[in-house]
Amino acid sequence: MTQVQKIASKHQWIEETLHPSWQQRFNTEHTLCDIQTAYQHLVIFKNDWFGNVMMLDGNIQTTEKDEFIYHEMMTHVPLMAHPNPKSVLVIGGGDGGIIREVLRHPNVEKVVMVEIDEIVVEMSKKYFPNHSQGAFNDPRVTLIIDDAAAFLKKTNDRFDVILTDSTDPTGPGEHLFTEEFYQNCKNHLEKDGILVTQSGVPFMQPTGIYNMQNMLSTFFEAVDFYQATIPTYVGGPMVFGFATNAQTNSFDEIKRRATTVQNQLHYWTPKIHQAAFLLPPFLQALRTNKKSQIS
Ligand code: SAM
Repeated sequence: MTQVQKIASKHQWIEETLHPSWQQRFNTEHTLCDIQTAYQHLVIFKNDWFGNVMMLDGNIQTTEKDEFIYHEMMTHVPLMAHPNPKSVLVIGGGDGGIIREVLRHPNVEKVVMVEIDEIVVEMSKKYFPNHSQGAFNDPRVTLIIDDAAAFLKKTNDRFDVILTDSTDPTGPGEHLFTEEFYQNCKNHLEKDGILVTQSGVPFMQPTGIYNMQNMLSTFFEAVDFYQATIPTYVGGPMVFGFATNAQTNSFDEIKRRATTVQNQLHYWTPKIHQAAFLLPPFLQALRTNKKSQIS
């Protein structure tokens, strides 16, 4: 066997199955974990470029290399836009990256994270320690293992910010993409609360942004979307839904507040924050279900 053959035979290719007509694949020498949990198929493997990679039901969830973009943008945009975020609800988020970012904000007093799958949390602590960086042990954090929709029906708590860091609308996350769920989110937000949702990659999932716009605008006066490109969520920038019934911080206020966290960050800045809300015409068209260049 030649050296090249030896290297090739050591590697296996793992394919993502998210999109029917386009795939990305990763090569790996080590599958670290392959478990069918009560809710989903969890696979964690090591890739030379992306580091440890997590898949659930064949869909990429997070990688060590590019997670900072997603976690910073999902967290700091609403926490910087809110006038005084003290309590935060994280929905899903089993890898711990969102709570790590939330805890950077000195005014946050309480973080509740509701994750359906305890095994994702346990395996993330083991294989993605840099995602949570000890955040699960922070006294401000309460981890609840439950379906987030069921939790919202039971709890009387209200939050300043709700972040839905869930899987795509299939499997255990499917009912988190419904009007009933967003109504419950709204009912558990304080008056000046902000909801942020992961809303997929619109170039590949063009109906997602329209559905989200439609559902959120039933309960919120101001609904907007902002973008960030996360390399392993293939097909272009992903969008985050941003919904509130209150006035958010001005750019000057965001710049003033940024000094508390900015030297710890690698993607979010006040200007990135502002620019991320600029959507090209084809995305604006998709929001309102008008014919767009890609539909
Ligand atoms: N950043 C990722 C993405 O954009 O695909 C999401 C990562 S995080 C690992 C997603 C988490 O949502 C998973 O751990 C999954 O178990 C959790 N989840 C799915 N459905 C849920 C539900 N109904 N309630 C609470 N957590 C849920």
